[in-house]
Amino acid sequence: MIIVFRPDAQTAQIDLIKNMMTAKGLIVKEIQGADTHLLGLLGDTFALCPDLLLRYPFIERVMPVSQPYKLAGRDFHPGDTVIECGGQKIGGGHFAIIAGPCSVESEEQMLSIAREVKSLGANFLRGGAFKPRSSPYAFQGLGQAGLNLLKIAREITGLPVVTEIISAEYLDDFDKHVDIIQIGARNMQNYPLLKEVGRLDKPVLLKRGPASTIDELLMAAEYVLIGGAPVILCERGIRTFETATRNTLDLSAVPVIKEKSHLPVIVDPSHGTGQRNLVEPMSLAAVAAGADGLMIEVHNHPEQALCDGGQSVSADQFDRLVYNIRKLREALEGTRN
Ligand code: PEP
Ligand code: MN
Repeated sequence: MIIVFRPDAQTAQIDLIKNMMTAKGLIVKEIQGADTHLLGLLGDTFALCPDLLLRYPFIERVMPVSQPYKLAGRDFHPGDTVIECGGQKIGGGHFAIIAGPCSVESEEQMLSIAREVKSLGANFLRGGAFKPRSSPYAFQGLGQAGLNLLKIAREITGLPVVTEIISAEYLDDFDKHVDIIQIGARNMQNYPLLKEVGRLDKPVLLKRGPASTIDELLMAAEYVLIGGAPVILCERGIRTFETATRNTLDLSAVPVIKEKSHLPVIVDPSHGTGQRNLVEPMSLAAVAAGADGLMIEVHNHPEQALCDGGQSVSADQFDRLVYNIRKLREALEGTRN
């Protein structure tokens, strides 16, 4: 971090800050220019709050020189992180497809979709047991019964299960029965929940909030990583002025995040577009943008789905999507970096 003083700063004022920083265990390098005076701070500057320093009237600017997300950023972790879970890998060249219904609705629905996506090449199974719905009158999910059906689907297919937690009160159940814990877009900045899931020894799939910046997503990931759990980031569309799609799928987030962070990044084109006919083109675009995986909503009867039927693809559409993704990945294999 660099502290820039105002040209009229007094020696005593500069010494005050110097001593303060030294007392915090930082190495202080002083640079005296023609009319600028700078302090370069080396060491663990993450706990320093620039806003507090800026309250000193004689300080002009405070410039962080490393990323504020120490654990999520590439500064301290240059290589890509590969997350292993239930015999599947994601990140660092390992591509994963997470597929399944928006919500777990019944045993027949969940098991039939689970078998289908498994046979068509999915690596993970998704299904919401606890649904955060915009309307309190909409289907809220089967809750614990839904978790139980996911457990059965996992036993039958062998696919690891991804499902969303909406409250820390269910942590024990998720710890026992879930392989990857999803934090939904609406909870991306629920810091107490992020801290709690971070303490479990399970990967966390963290979805980008609909109105969150990439840096806010990475800071949210930091909350989980502090607890020790690995994180997979998910771009799922953000809210813009465009109304033709449910959200605006920000695919530029993929290469931007990959530059800043070592964490795997996946894309959810189902929530990102809200329309099943857009799921395949945006899946292919996500692959071309460098995503480490996809999360796709699939339903056996999309027209009867209790949640997000309009954006759920049928098994046939999923089959074609998986085939085309494989072809595109093969074609991209020979490209230069
Ligand atoms: C979901 O994946 O089921 C979901 C609710 O997505 P999001 O949090 O991105 O809206
Ligand atoms: Mn959904």
